[in-house]
Amino acid sequence: MENMSCGGSCAAVFDVVVVGSCMTDLVSQASRLPKAGETIHGHKFFIGYGGKGANQCIQAGRLGARTAMVCKVGKDYFGDSYILNFKNNGVSTDFVGQTDKAATGAASIIVNDQGENAIVIVAGANLLLGSEDLRAAAPPITSARVLLCQLEVRPATSLEALRMAHSSGVKTVFNPAPAVPDLDPEFYSNSDVVCCNEPEAELLTGVPVVSLEDAGKAGAVLLGRGCRSVIVTLGSEGCVMMSVQDPTPKHIAGQKVTAVDSTGAGDSFVGALAFFMAHHPTLPLEEMARRANHIAAISVKAEGTQGSYPFRKDLPQELF
Ligand code: ATP
Repeated sequence: MENMSCGGSCAAVFDVVVVGSCMTDLVSQASRLPKAGETIHGHKFFIGYGGKGANQCIQAGRLGARTAMVCKVGKDYFGDSYILNFKNNGVSTDFVGQTDKAATGAASIIVNDQGENAIVIVAGANLLLGSEDLRAAAPPITSARVLLCQLEVRPATSLEALRMAHSSGVKTVFNPAPAVPDLDPEFYSNSDVVCCNEPEAELLTGVPVVSLEDAGKAGAVLLGRGCRSVIVTLGSEGCVMMSVQDPTPKHIAGQKVTAVDSTGAGDSFVGALAFFMAHHPTLPLEEMARRANHIAAISVKAEGTQGSYPFRKDLPQELF
């Protein structure tokens, strides 16, 4: 066990527990992308907090969920800084491990003036999150209202976390991103809600997804694999959802906004969905998805990933 303790809050019950990734984004903007072997001057640099797991956890927390993150960062500057970012967002860091065997996950991103990018992701410490860490975090995982997992840590770790939560009666949300073909069917049978975007739905099912109808067809394939509900997000079009109780695909229209930067909108949606599942468990999933559309649409109106995620105090109170 590497520096992971329960810091006195093992008995705390969390609304949303995320087992997933943390990545530091190192973003350079330049007029063009450099060629191999070339050094060029850029005009802007910034560091951002990312990683699908952390993004979703922070969005749920900003809406008022009591959140805990189960993840691994390096014993380095970026790891320390990420832990501080969680604390600043009210996320419990009792189950954030720090290792000296790998660096904190990082994405080196170069963006040119046309908005094209070149990205290298080094998952680093994220890939060292494993069974031992999940055992240490068993109290929050098995007593949360909602557990969230993605695929930016080792798939075996995500599956083990989903199994632990599902077998304890915790509601589970699985965001199969980045998608990989031929996922173990147990990912579906241990998930209450599977939520993915169009390209992910296509990769997971082999059904080409270019229209609302296609999203419904791909969703039906995913539903057939054993989860209770499926949501396929469709960018500005909102999302399509279906469930075992009502397998007819329903379109929930997106909000009309002027998009500035849609990076991280999918994570805002998933984090918001988890918040509503934890705080309003009796709402129909369709209504939760409508409210998650509303929140994710706000995140596309501003630049950045976590920086664009709205706080409860800035949102219409009828959403809550
Ligand atoms: P990203 O990879 O950029 O994080 P994604 O591809 O995983 O996003 P999307 O389907 O693009 O996910 O968007 C998720 C949700 O965000 C949508 O279901 C919708 O609610 C909201 N959204 C995204 N883009 C827009 C937009 N241009 N206008 C309004 N809402 C949007």
